[in-house]
Amino acid sequence: MSEPRTARQIRDDVAAGRSSATEACEAALERIAHIDPSLNAFQTVAAERALDRARTLDRDHAALASLPLAGVPIALKDNLCTRGLTTTAGSRILDGYRPPYDATVVSRLERAGAVIVGKTRCDEFAMGSSTENCAYGPVKNPWALDRIPGGSSGGSAAAVAATMVPVALGSDTGGSVRQPAALCGVTGLKPTWGRVSRYGLIAFASSLDQIGPIARTVEDAALVLQAIAGPDPCDATAALAPVADYAAALEPAKGLRGRTIAVPRRLLEEGLDAGVRQAFDDAVEALKARGAKIIDVELPHNRHAIAIYYLIATAEASSNLARYDGVRYGVRAPLDPGDTLIAMYGRTREAGFGPEVKRRIMLGTYVLSAGYYDAYYLKAQQVRTLIRQDFERALASADVVALPTSPTPAFRSGERTADPLKMYLADVFTVSAPLAGLPAISIPCGFADGLPVGLQFVGRPFDEATIFGVAHAYERDTDWWKARPPVSG
Ligand code: GLN
Repeated sequence: MSEPRTARQIRDDVAAGRSSATEACEAALERIAHIDPSLNAFQTVAAERALDRARTLDRDHAALASLPLAGVPIALKDNLCTRGLTTTAGSRILDGYRPPYDATVVSRLERAGAVIVGKTRCDEFAMGSSTENCAYGPVKNPWALDRIPGGSSGGSAAAVAATMVPVALGSDTGGSVRQPAALCGVTGLKPTWGRVSRYGLIAFASSLDQIGPIARTVEDAALVLQAIAGPDPCDATAALAPVADYAAALEPAKGLRGRTIAVPRRLLEEGLDAGVRQAFDDAVEALKARGAKIIDVELPHNRHAIAIYYLIATAEASSNLARYDGVRYGVRAPLDPGDTLIAMYGRTREAGFGPEVKRRIMLGTYVLSAGYYDAYYLKAQQVRTLIRQDFERALASADVVALPTSPTPAFRSGERTADPLKMYLADVFTVSAPLAGLPAISIPCGFADGLPVGLQFVGRPFDEATIFGVAHAYERDTDWWKARPPVSG
């Protein structure tokens, strides 16, 4: 297969009339047909719908030429609502569910000229770090088929890494865009909470959830964020803050000179895989060599981040998932004669939810219960504030905080499924940005045991532009992002 184009290249080619939206769409569908049988990244491939849309776009070339994502094929995590196109969030309880409306991000992408080619597999309700909690089967890592692609947006990350699509959307509550991006060797951004509308994102933990782009280059991630960011009358929590010009933030001249990057060295002393540590240290050296000022910083409350995250996220999930009762959406357990409504709810939920989702509903209900609320939920909210304040202090003297994205490279399939706590520890470096509401990116920075390692930058609220600028400068000076996994086009 020919060298896959980035979203930017497709857009430029389409705008200049060198190729068409239909050609780009056909190429993506061919790659999916050829590559996905080995990876299982796609839950639904919407071939006819995508081709119809691409042909419609091509009919009015003058209009298409001015669109920022003209003809760009894109995949969406299957927890983003698409009108008339099944949206399962990886759960049996939403088997066959066809939303009556599009998520705001979906209509914005389409308005920008993108073509949605399909929906990608994810952990059930985005709960997981390996995509093994998907009720429709696990996704494989294109770098090593016996490894997990990370989660919960594992399908989106694998689809981009294997060059089936140039860009995809994921959602990130505690790391679900950044961690799979890191483990698959691509770029993933979690925007500031409120930067992107959550209307039509199937809710997991509403105070943490954000939708973000996964791409092979920082520039492509910036292009996609530009199209989806901004206020939305359908989501009162979508911030009114003006959206920056992200392309301007990538000007090569900006580079790393004059940037200050904070490194929380003490956090890295424990539990970090030696290969990841080496790649991270080398990346920090490279940033320094290119003119960035590196400072040491303390994030003293980060050691509580996993505990706090799993209290808050489960509490919010138990409340958000109460709506799945078999009445309004998806699957309903058959009614027995003389059944009460409660018995029907119970049987629907028993059959419809997988074990991890049940575990989280139970944990969340427990931490919110009258006798334990103060001890768990309230306490967690207080510590959450301390975590945010740690970052505020660090970011008062630095442009970004640098961290590894994941403490280990991709682990083996099945290795952690029996030990939820071990699975939760995969999020040790990613949960604090969403707890603090801050934007963060993961970009490729090397390899450990032949598997990709991610470098994370956390930035100030609504300052995605600085994150993109720093990440782009590093990316342009290194070759890590160019590496292609063995399973790719
Ligand atoms: N792995 C984390 C969890 O299971 C994060 C998931 C996410 O960001 N959606 O909660």
